[in-house]
Amino acid sequence: MSSLSSPNADLHCHSVVSDGTLTPEALAERAKANGVHLWALTDHDELGGQKRAKDAANALKMDYLSGVEISVTWMNQTIHIVGLGIDADHQGIIEGLRRTREGRGNRAQLMADQLLKAGIPGAYEGALHFAGNHQLISRTHFARYLVEQGVCKDTEHVFKNYLVEGKPGFVPHQWASLEDAVAWIKAAGGVAVIAHPGRYPFNSMQMEELYKQFKDIGGLGIEVITGSHSPDQYQTYGKVAQQYGFLASRGSDFHDPNESHIDLGVLPHLPDHLTPVWSVFH
Ligand code: AMP
Ligand code: MN
Ligand code: MN
Ligand code: MN
Repeated sequence: MSSLSSPNADLHCHSVVSDGTLTPEALAERAKANGVHLWALTDHDELGGQKRAKDAANALKMDYLSGVEISVTWMNQTIHIVGLGIDADHQGIIEGLRRTREGRGNRAQLMADQLLKAGIPGAYEGALHFAGNHQLISRTHFARYLVEQGVCKDTEHVFKNYLVEGKPGFVPHQWASLEDAVAWIKAAGGVAVIAHPGRYPFNSMQMEELYKQFKDIGGLGIEVITGSHSPDQYQTYGKVAQQYGFLASRGSDFHDPNESHIDLGVLPHLPDHLTPVWSVFH
């Protein structure tokens, strides 16, 4: 681990193994160039990039934590749970993630059917073309196809107009349960972290319920500084971390040099009064 008291840690990003556009090696280079000391690749529902990321980090003398971002259905909505410091060869999490990924192909077909009805043909093949890992076809790949086709000017607009609840390309999906996701991470020796809490469509009572349930089942951390949060939300979720005794995490959620507003490692530091999630890996 870095000897600095406040290392530049970036513990959330995506490679071509899920819905990012850079390889694990290119991400490692970029993280290093941006001054990252401690890095984790956290592809969606997939550990296939972990060895490459770890090897690349080691070669560049960056500390590395194996990571994943698990898709979870909680209260009928999708939330994301990041696992950090897991054993990427642990069979329990590998098998759990395999099952979590299983429905993606069918969901993608249904999304394409709906987009066709909305006047956009070829979306399944089009999205697949953007997917580096065909097991992990995601809404992001559809968004890139629709931008390529000139339907929208950028992926933000595609999500807003086509890929979220109530829009023509949205297909509801059942992901892992919160209990399973946290159990897989714990069994693999990792720490479970609530990803970008500021993005969820819950009221404050529901968020409190999420924090309580998550803590009860052994969840330990929450993202405070993320590319998905505004400065106000840094404050809000810093307070949540203190109130619930959660470890605080920091990660850009970087996907692509053009799409992502926040680059690897280019984020405010965690506030000093919070306990960083990496403190448990010393
Ligand atoms: P999926 O797992 O297929 O539902 O895709 C989820 C991914 O879509 C997230 O990890 C983000 O990368 C991306 N995403 C979700 N909402 C948005 C949005 N409003 N704008 C851009 N990307 C988004
Ligand atoms: Mn993503
Ligand atoms: Mn996420
Ligand atoms: Mn992410």
